[in-house]
Amino acid sequence: PRLANQIAAGEVVERPASVIKELLENSLDAGATRLEIDLDAGGVKRIMVRDNGKGIEKEDLHLALARHATSKIHALEDLEAVATLGFRGEALASISSVARLTMTSSRNESGKGWVVTAEGREMETQLAPAAHPRGTTVEVRDLFFNTPARRKFLRTEKTEFNRVDETIKRLALARFDVSFSLRHNGKGVHNLRGGTSRAEMERRVAQLCGPAFMQNALHIEMERSGLRLWGWVAEPAFSRSQADLQFFYVNGRAIRDRVVSHAVRRAFADVLYHGRHPAFVLYLELDPAAVDVNVHPTKHEVRFRDSRLVHDFLFGSLHRALADVRP
Ligand code: ADP
Ligand code: MG
Repeated sequence: PRLANQIAAGEVVERPASVIKELLENSLDAGATRLEIDLDAGGVKRIMVRDNGKGIEKEDLHLALARHATSKIHALEDLEAVATLGFRGEALASISSVARLTMTSSRNESGKGWVVTAEGREMETQLAPAAHPRGTTVEVRDLFFNTPARRKFLRTEKTEFNRVDETIKRLALARFDVSFSLRHNGKGVHNLRGGTSRAEMERRVAQLCGPAFMQNALHIEMERSGLRLWGWVAEPAFSRSQADLQFFYVNGRAIRDRVVSHAVRRAFADVLYHGRHPAFVLYLELDPAAVDVNVHPTKHEVRFRDSRLVHDFLFGSLHRALADVRP
């Protein structure tokens, strides 16, 4: 079964950024409100994620690393409205099959918890007591130490770090209510306090997208026929590194979609300059039944039931908002 995990690992575990994504989603599933991420060498040498979520029972620590043991899908309807972000029940098993993984967890404030380790195909069967506040810490060392072929596909430390950072940004912009901190090679990179007031959200956007974006951003909020669009858009001329500044969420989930990007691009091109990348952080909210988010679990794709309606709403809303400031 460990071999099967390694093969399946290709699905989820491509690089440090994909490990981070899975770990953070697990922490959020566990109700964490504070996430600490600590990396060495772009995450290739070490990735640590610590959360203050509900923790894992001693008896369940092993199961958490075993494949398909804990899949959150219990019924077909779960696929229709995925309440939690993870649902495949295999991420930790896949990660541990290609790295050295340690998971320490506690369910209460006693400061006492348990730790389990797995290294490549070897899973330590012994649970050991460990000091830990309520929550979970997962440490992943030496990614792909036992799969040199996959290790070859890793890029430079800087590139891998940038992808991790991008992944964290994308999540941090989806969960303003959660605190995030990121350290890399012992140095603090982000320290984002949780908060959902307009001012708190704008402070975070400025921290992640740069003060220039926020200073020039237009806050928008539109609602029509069950669709709601809110967030910030900025004139392309003001944005610093434009390709980086395109965040779009559908019901809280980061996505890339042709219908969306076409509508956004058209609206910007119509009102502003042509041939430039617009900068935006936008959130679309709609009836979960009107959108299928499970086209592919690891890709950021969606399928709208009525893509024409969504397109026209996005285009219309953005066009109006942009035309207001630039008639
Ligand atoms: P999935 O998230 O799809 O269930 P994973 O392999 O990612 O599969 O995680 C396996 C299980 O381990 C989860 O279902 C959850 O019960 C438990 N788990 C993983 N990470 C955490 C965490 N940070 N806090 C609490 N429980 C966790
Ligand atoms: Mg998971």
